[in-house]
This record gives sequence, structure tokens and C-alpha cells, in this order.
Amino acid sequence: MQYFPAFLDLKDRPCLVVGGGAPAARKAQLLMRAGARLTVVARRAIPEIEGLDAAGALRLVRRGFVAGDVEGRAVVVSATGLGEVDGRVSEAARAAGVPVNVVDRPELSSFVVPAIVERDPVVIGISSGGTSPVLARRLRARIEALLPARLGRLARFAESFRAAVRATVPAPAQRQRFWTRVFDGPVAEDVLAGREAAAHERMLGLVNRPDATRAPEGLVHIVGAGPGDPDLLTVKALRLMERADVAVYDRLVTPEILNRLRRDAERIYVGKAKGAHDLSQDRINALLLAQARAGKRVLRLKGGDPFVFGRGGEEFEYLRRHGVRVEVVPGVTAATGCAAALGVPLSHRDHASVVTFITGHGRDGEPDLDWAALASPRQTLAVYMGVETAGRTAARLMAQGLAPGTPAAVIENGTLASQKAVVGTLRDLEALVRDNGITGPALILIGEVVRLADADAVAERPRAVAV
Ligand code: SAH
Repeated sequence: MQYFPAFLDLKDRPCLVVGGGAPAARKAQLLMRAGARLTVVARRAIPEIEGLDAAGALRLVRRGFVAGDVEGRAVVVSATGLGEVDGRVSEAARAAGVPVNVVDRPELSSFVVPAIVERDPVVIGISSGGTSPVLARRLRARIEALLPARLGRLARFAESFRAAVRATVPAPAQRQRFWTRVFDGPVAEDVLAGREAAAHERMLGLVNRPDATRAPEGLVHIVGAGPGDPDLLTVKALRLMERADVAVYDRLVTPEILNRLRRDAERIYVGKAKGAHDLSQDRINALLLAQARAGKRVLRLKGGDPFVFGRGGEEFEYLRRHGVRVEVVPGVTAATGCAAALGVPLSHRDHASVVTFITGHGRDGEPDLDWAALASPRQTLAVYMGVETAGRTAARLMAQGLAPGTPAAVIENGTLASQKAVVGTLRDLEALVRDNGITGPALILIGEVVRLADADAVAERPRAVAV
């Protein structure tokens, strides 16, 4: 190990930053966050440091560095960017036995400052041992994305119960199990979702009856998986995918997305097999309920957004009614995903002040829609499940007066490598679908904004080649 990792308590300790530029300001901010009593020595300082001095947050000494400045400091940071000065700071600090860091000069430093991920009071420091700050920063970004924003709240929440738990669960091994259950269970879930009052209630129950053999509590997350590109998953969806016991998914969820699931998560497909029907909604509901009641963390993964033509609402309502805890995580819906892939803004100050999502497929075939309203101009229509009924949709809109020359696009497998987009007009929408052999899930966009489609995206992209 190149460096010994440690966290310093600098609260109210005298610390020194030498230098008055942006790097000095960054280090000053960091030291101040740790509660240091900070002095900055610099002939000239940027307004940010001047301002902190004026506000009394630090003390700015406007002169050059002298060796005596390091005396009595808990740590010294040199950020002048001037080799000669940095060298003198390093030498003086070392002679006085004070830990010193010179920004970007490990050879002059007795300690390095790691890249950090902060969820106060939780702090994660990452060091590449001086080999590659860029690598450390990339790791930082990945860890940043993995950790829930409210992790710090969870730590403080746990702290507030520490004494009580110690009193009711005195044996260390048992206590450890207790806390594991808390962090893996609904209490932590509640805190992370911002429901601290509910978490508090639950936690009181646990603390008062720590040994109670309670039935395990299931939890269902109804999660939008986006239109197909795994990079369009939300951070929250990814996090839940890494923790799920079982994933219940349907046809629109791509293999690339399923790859992001925890390796040992059970996978249950409830989509349509070739020539067969979907598992009925009743059976899916019953399945979700049974899995949750078995105490599992259930991930109900749905294409796009679960609450946009996804029947997520029915599952949500059913589970709620049966007393199961259920939470919804939105996803990028096909309309926004496909529009972005084509460079088509759904709304536009000149062309569209209304955006309407409709389905081409009603409960018993053709949907019952207000076609007159849909045919009004300055509107963008996004038609889901509309491939089979494309001709009839176009005819109805034209019958209500929408211009036959209104631009229309069909996007198949939007956001995937196999994406195919074709553009024409309302008049030839049916032919557009038929002649281009559209068979996969496809979205139809109708409206003046379609004229703005990116020509590169519209030309058929090559299909992904298996290697
Ligand atoms: N909940 C989903 C929609 C499910 S309905 C969402 O929010 O996107 C299924 C329809 O969605 C398909 O018939 C198609 O019209 C559309 N769709 C879903 N994914 C798509 C994709 N990658 N490309 C084009 N259309 C898609």
C-alpha cells in the first residue's frame, strides 16, 4: 500500500493553505467543510477567497509565505503552483513535523488528498496511489452514481438509534444482525425514499421487539426500464436492479438491460411468447403478490415508463389493496426516447404547444378518442401501439381536417442498435409502415416538429451484427 488511508478530525484545528488561486480556494473549501480554523497566506487572492475572509470564514494574510507560518498547524496545503514557493512550504512543514500536501506534487507531499464521494457524514476517499488522478476521478463518478442521495440521512438516522439498540440488543453479534436487517429492509428503504416519519415508526417497533420473529416483509418496485438503451436506465433503477431478489419483466425489456440485474436474481418472464398471449394481468398481479408475500424484494421491470400505457397503475393499485408495500420508479418513455433519438423536439415554440400521447390500441381494438381534438394544429401526437392501426389513425385525423401533408415518422426499436426510423406524411402513413417492414415495437410521431428530424438518424441504421 503506497499510502495509509485515514480520516483526520480537523474540527477547530488551525490549518494553513498557501496560495490565492482557484486550486487554493478548492482546498480551502474542503478544509472548511471539515471544520478547520483556516488561514490562507497569499500575496493576492481571487474574489472567492477575499469574500470568505470578509465573511469571517477564514483569515487571509496578504503577504508571501514565511517558514514560521507552518508552526502549530494540524495540516498545511500548498497550492501556489510556483515550484519554488511550494518547495519552501514543503520543506518548512517537514522540518516542523507538520503533515503537508502540495497540490499535484506527490513528491513534495507527506499526504495526498483523495478524490471523495460525500454523503455527509459518510465520506468515501479514493486514491490511485498517485498513479492516475483521472482514474481516481472516474471511479469517483461511478461510486457517486451508485450511492443513494440520502445515504447520509440513513447514517444519521442509525446514529439516533444507536444507544437504544445497544440497550435492547446487548450481544454484539446479535446487534450486528439486527443492523444488517435494518439496512437491508424497509426501514432503510423508507429513509432513502425520504419517508423518515414512517421509518421512525417502524424502527421503534423493531427496537422494542428486537427478537420478534416477524414475517419477512416484501416490497415491490415497479420500475421503468426506458425504451431499450441500457444507458437510459435511471440511477435508481440500476441500484434496485443490483439489489432485487426477483425480477418480473416483459417483452420490451431488452437482454442488455437484464444484464444489469444482480447475477443471482431470479428472472420471471411474463411477456408474450411467439403466437401466444401475454400472461393475463390478473396472473401477473397474483404472481407479484405471491413473490412479495414470500418476503422478497421484487422488481417489476417494465419497458419505458410504467405509468405510460404500461398498466403499471393496475399493478400498483392491486398490490396496495393487498397491503403490499409498493413504489414506482419512472423511466424514459418511448415518446421522449424516440424523439431524442431522432432529434425531434416534442414541443416547439413555433410548431407545437401541445404534446399528446395516445394509444392506437384500445381495450377492444380501436381506441375511443376525441379525433377532432387530436386533429387540431400546433400539436405533436405520439402514437403508442399504433402500427397495426396506422392507416385508420391517419384517415380519422385527415377526416377531422388535419392536413394530409403533415409530417409523420415511424421509429422502430428506438434507442437500440437496431433502431429504424422512416419519415413521410400523414397521407402515406400506412404505406410508410407497410413498405418499410416495420414489425418491432414502433412509435409514430405526427406533427410539424417531425420536419426537424435529424437526417442521419432517419436513414436506416445498419443492424447490429452478432460477433
Ligand atoms: N410503458 C411504455 C409503453 C408500453 S406500450 C413506455 O412508456 O414507453 C408499448 C408501445 O410502446 C409499443 O407498441 C411502441 O409503440 C412503444 N415503444 C416501446 N418501446 C419502444 C421503442 N424502443 N421504440 C419504439 N417504440 C417503442
